[in-house]
Amino acid sequence: MEKFDLLVLGAGPGGYPAAIKAAQNGAKVGLIEAQEVGGTCLNRGCIPSKTLIAGAETYRQIKNAYHFGIEVPPSTVHYPKLAEKKDNVVQNLRTNLEGLISANGIRLFRGFGRFISPYEIKVTGKDSAILQADKIIIATGSEPRSIPSFPCDGVKILDSTSLLNLKKLPKSIVIIGGGVIGCEFASLYRELGVEVTILEMLPTILSTESRDVIEAITTAFKKQGIKIQTNARVERILSEKNGVKVELKEGNPIESEIALVAVGRRLNTTDIGLEKAGLLTDEAGFISVNDKMETSVPGIYAVGDITTRWWLAHVATHQGVVAAQNATGKTARMSYEAIPVIIFTHPEVGSVGLSLEKAKEKGFDAAVGAFPFHALGKAQATGQTEGFAQVVIDRKTGQILGAQVVGYEASTLISEMVLAIANELTIECLTETIHGHPTFPEAWLEAGLIANQEPLHWPPNKRKKVSKG
Ligand code: NAD
Repeated sequence: MEKFDLLVLGAGPGGYPAAIKAAQNGAKVGLIEAQEVGGTCLNRGCIPSKTLIAGAETYRQIKNAYHFGIEVPPSTVHYPKLAEKKDNVVQNLRTNLEGLISANGIRLFRGFGRFISPYEIKVTGKDSAILQADKIIIATGSEPRSIPSFPCDGVKILDSTSLLNLKKLPKSIVIIGGGVIGCEFASLYRELGVEVTILEMLPTILSTESRDVIEAITTAFKKQGIKIQTNARVERILSEKNGVKVELKEGNPIESEIALVAVGRRLNTTDIGLEKAGLLTDEAGFISVNDKMETSVPGIYAVGDITTRWWLAHVATHQGVVAAQNATGKTARMSYEAIPVIIFTHPEVGSVGLSLEKAKEKGFDAAVGAFPFHALGKAQATGQTEGFAQVVIDRKTGQILGAQVVGYEASTLISEMVLAIANELTIECLTETIHGHPTFPEAWLEAGLIANQEPLHWPPNKRKKVSKG
């Protein structure tokens, strides 16, 4: 039996930052991980997929080089090499993270942790131990949801984890689920020359995004040759001799070489002995927490996917730091007002705060100002003219309520609006800030001016109906 000030169960983007923060606050910390440090994000999610997407982006730029008078012989992607690059990036980051954990004096236990009482965890695996602490942070995350009628075999019927392990590209893929994972892989695979079909049971893909974003991505995907079937509920996937057959509730079955099942995730709260800790989950498996990340059991905190529908690595990290502060005698609170949501499709999507629809629903006298990238000097110079940036404001107070951007580097551009919303800035704070020229962030300035009915680089008579380009 070993005693710690704080134990953290799970070393993903929620757990390991919590462990580091607590150690930096002077606590003796034990961190328990059943697989690799870094969790889904580093090993089976964000980092490997973004490396593949960066490869596809490079390929796109090579194909577009002729616009600048650059002649490049026809090029092809050697997928095994791209997959190797992805594995190397993951391995490097994992090694660095292991070093960081150890440099902070955190004891890493490699094994599966399960509560045996409220303040005791039994670890089984490479390291076997019984650990005790007055404070425990649960950060066990989630896994792809599996459904019996979609029998993932890792060969023809895959989930996001097994798809990332493929060493060879298929000729065609059918993607079940047009959510974030489905759309990111659709975009990646299409760029690499694969025939892609998305089957989504709801009336649109990316249904949690705003109407303008959904419209822009749907149009862009169709232009790229991605086939999209909405209102298409998949009932069964059959593995056949030469591929897969996907059966829909209504309509003809779809055949393809492989299928990706991207229909959401399952929470890792069923097998960790929560009942021994005196904790209950709701029907969906969530553990309820307050804004200090405290559960109903004193001294036990929970962070990450198991606590919120914001299933994002950066949310888990922030929650982890909040929990660690509170568990080590400081005070911190979690707020969900300014969470960046980024989708790494082509074109990229970034959004934060309220859409125009949501702002109106909440009773704001809301207005939107949108500026198309094609009207930006930098976008014309670089040939990245697809997309737009838009700002949603409260007409009464001028407060910035939300922002959405679709287009080149939307993932980076959204940060300015996250800072604005987190600090409750008004539209004047944006329009009176000098933006470097020529740059993409000027789109925010111009969108702000339009929202305020004072367009500068957009004709006044067009201000009510701004083209999204
Ligand atoms: P999701 O919930 O975002 O999307 C799943 C989609 O599958 C939904 O649109 C749903 O309607 C559809 N669906 C479910 N059953 C179906 C059926 N039988 N037939 C047809 N369609 C069906 O889930 P996801 O895409 O698996 O992603 C999981 C989580 O991971 C999300 O919360 C996402 O935000 C997060 N994630 C985020 C990023 C990022 O931030 N860039 C990247 C990857 C994943």
